[in-house]
Amino acid sequence: MPSETRIASGEVWLVGAGPGDPELLTLKAIRLIEAADVVFYDALVSADILALVPSRVRRVSVGKRSGRHSRKQEDINEDLLAAAQAGLRVVRLKGGDPSIFGRSAEEAAHLRAHGIVVQVVPGITAASAAAASAGVSLTLRGEARRLQFITAHARAGEPLDLDWRALADPRSTLAIYMGRAAAPEIAQNLLRAGLAAETPALIVENASMACERRFSTRLDLLALAVQTAVGDGPTLLLIGSAVGDRSIPRSVKIRVQAEP
Ligand code: SAH
Repeated sequence: MPSETRIASGEVWLVGAGPGDPELLTLKAIRLIEAADVVFYDALVSADILALVPSRVRRVSVGKRSGRHSRKQEDINEDLLAAAQAGLRVVRLKGGDPSIFGRSAEEAAHLRAHGIVVQVVPGITAASAAAASAGVSLTLRGEARRLQFITAHARAGEPLDLDWRALADPRSTLAIYMGRAAAPEIAQNLLRAGLAAETPALIVENASMACERRFSTRLDLLALAVQTAVGDGPTLLLIGSAVGDRSIPRSVKIRVQAEP
């Protein structure tokens, strides 16, 4: 049994908060939250998780949601550094896993460059939570041998700079983060690169939370499904034969259905 994690004064821990359900937090994450002096958290960290932060621990929102940046990355880096230099025990809570599209490398590099000890605690990433809720596997023996994590976040007005040939692999599962706005462009490019129109696609909004919604569709109808069915919660797109609902005949044209 490994010894219990301790957070020292002046240290920063980048902690994965998982996809939203507090029961998907690690024991380490909970111990650190309880031992911290200050917790910096993103907009993706759910209210249920914040409720676990003891009242004596200071909470600082550095909320970032695409299109609604409330704090610049450089400012967040400086805030973390100032707290550590003041000798506080600092927890930086990040949605999902800190090392997946979480800009944790930038925060860690900035802090380490100033001599601060930085530790990372992994978390359950949105793709794992989405697959678990939908009852599908991200890989499938003999069918999906590759899993690609992609961010579809692009600068406003610029096309996505992705290797569509590599992505349009029928033996791969694509887990697309921040892909809601770019869904039409993603589908169009994958179809153009040769991925079959009937390739299963799964859209999961608010994975693992009480308000989770899932939609099962196919690649050529992905954009329509996202546009008509998805709200403004964090949304993950899964594309590939592994995420198909085997109970739906492949000839069915569309199946956009909220599953409570
Ligand atoms: N580090 C996070 C990802 C941060 S990028 C992780 O490992 O999950 C932010 C994107 O993650 C969102 O735009 C969305 O695409 C996805 N995401 C995060 N939490 C989610 C959730 N509960 N349900 C669906 N997608 C989620």
